[in-house]
Amino acid sequence: MLKTPSNTLTIFFFLLVTISTLGQNTTKNIHTEIQQHTEQIFDSLVKIRRDLHMYPEVGGEEKRTSTKIAAYLTELGLEVKTGIGGYGVVGILKGVKPGKKIAWRADIDAMPSKAPDVVDFPSKHEGVRHICGHDVHTAVALGIANTLVQQKEDLEGTIYFVFQPSEENIKGALAMMDDGLFDMIQPEEMYAMHVTPFPAGTIAAKPEEMFSDYKKVDLFFKKGNNKDALYEFAKQAILSLENVSPESKFWNMQNMGDPEIGIAGTKSIYKNYTTVDKNNFSIKEANNGVKISGFISFSDKKQRDAAIPSLKKKIADSEFAEDFSTAELVNVFPTLDNNERLVNESLEQLSDIYGENRVLRLHGVVADGRSDDFAFFQPKVPSVYFFMGGSNYEKGIIAQTHSPNFAVDESCIKTGVNLFSSLIIERLNP
Ligand SMILES: [Zn+2]
Ligand SMILES: [Zn+2]
Repeated sequence: MLKTPSNTLTIFFFLLVTISTLGQNTTKNIHTEIQQHTEQIFDSLVKIRRDLHMYPEVGGEEKRTSTKIAAYLTELGLEVKTGIGGYGVVGILKGVKPGKKIAWRADIDAMPSKAPDVVDFPSKHEGVRHICGHDVHTAVALGIANTLVQQKEDLEGTIYFVFQPSEENIKGALAMMDDGLFDMIQPEEMYAMHVTPFPAGTIAAKPEEMFSDYKKVDLFFKKGNNKDALYEFAKQAILSLENVSPESKFWNMQNMGDPEIGIAGTKSIYKNYTTVDKNNFSIKEANNGVKISGFISFSDKKQRDAAIPSLKKKIADSEFAEDFSTAELVNVFPTLDNNERLVNESLEQLSDIYGENRVLRLHGVVADGRSDDFAFFQPKVPSVYFFMGGSNYEKGIIAQTHSPNFAVDESCIKTGVNLFSSLIIERLNP
């Protein structure tokens, strides 16, 4: 999904660390083999990605896409299950010996867009485009399956490839689970990635949130006399939760890509924040009284959990105390929650193999209410959601998801297959 409620985000990763060298430590033989194999299949993966790009399908209609995926996995010799939660597909790769079970999830749907395509293999489905990069996600996942099949004789454990439909409408993950996904497979760890405006060649992650937790707050009051004053008071109470000063560099979204203060910087200003959407308050009749609503973004759980008690206290101390009924935070998007241990171990394992300059540890949280419905799997299985760079600034390719001119440097497919195949191998045989 990676929703973009404001277009201020465009190219915010511009200033992000560029890769000076693509350092690779290839002392571990199996990872050398992975890279050699990826090299061999790279052109075929680009072809698959372009085919998916030309025939994009929106959530709930991924018939052709899922047929292609199932055929590819069957050809590789995997056990394949189809029609899970709609057009969901699962491929099961069993190593020679039993062992750990790991799942890799890729989302496969496209989205409605009337904007013309910017590539020379444009969408043939009018009004539908892959501008969230799920064509790339699918190609990478198929490439990982292909690469790991080559290692089958040395594999101890099982790898599940979960191809999830309907991500954009936040329905697919839940639909797959409702359809018995976790009866069918029992992964001990689960991973996924999303293309982002980071430079191609890199991946990034952090523990817990990756995007700010975007919540609606509803304050319910019994009908009082002074509705205007109540509305003004409630707005001010919600606004008082914001802890970023108006002068802060935080508000210039291009700073999110700054190497020092951006989300990948150790001195990131994009942490420990609560912000309030100043143009999005409302008052409605509800429950024989009124409901006053606003929208708040939290970068961490502590501030989120403190919000309602803090609002209640403000109301209790006010002239509106007697009219107050209740207050609640309502989910708008699912919230990602990366497992801390798995993030730390994964980033370390990948840095050791591919070099620190390709594996970024994020210190800040993207200041935006975007997310991914991978979040629905996370309470079930310890998991990590990665960002994968797709931009090439020199070539003018900016992988800004949901933007009309979204494009990727297809070399990122190689990065995804290499790093995440290596990761799965490392996780199976630590
Ligand atoms: Zn999206
Ligand atoms: Zn997406």
